[in-house]
Amino acid sequence: MTSELVTRLRVLLGETGNAGLFDLHSLFDSLQRDPSKIREALQAWRVVEPAATAFAAGRITKLGLRRLDRLCGAYEAAKLPEARARLDHDFHRCVVEFADNRFLARTHAEAGESLRGLRLFRSVWKPHGENAVADDHREIVAALVRRDEELASARALAHVAVAERWLSDAQDWLAGQG
Ligand SMILES: [Zn+2]
Repeated sequence: MTSELVTRLRVLLGETGNAGLFDLHSLFDSLQRDPSKIREALQAWRVVEPAATAFAAGRITKLGLRRLDRLCGAYEAAKLPEARARLDHDFHRCVVEFADNRFLARTHAEAGESLRGLRLFRSVWKPHGENAVADDHREIVAALVRRDEELASARALAHVAVAERWLSDAQDWLAGQG
């Protein structure tokens, strides 16, 4: 990772400072050195998230639904990209918690760790896409409220599919920096 690229990442983060620099740096370092890692993390997320969301639809408590509702509100109110990326992660971790399956939770946590930089990139690079994320989360919660496992799974899958576009955006951005 060249120092010029780090400088450009700082510019990308803008006024929000350097708090997310490590995550962005990791993302682009990974895209350069080991691009299959992010792709595999996305593939794992695509498998695990819909399954976990379907399980959660049958198991989530009223308290859990209120937690998700609060996380949706906090995401919608958040201004900084770092905060939005963290709240996006917290939302999905909460859903998976209610799937009540430690194997799914472990895979989800590991994939989520590899996707931190990608979430942050999406937040800084596609600020107009934030409403789409918030809307997706609200739709997932609505399916959980209805205890509709199939719908919850379908909405989670649609949400994950969007992340594949973030990856190609990140790759395009990196190619443009060469
Ligand atoms: Zn999300």
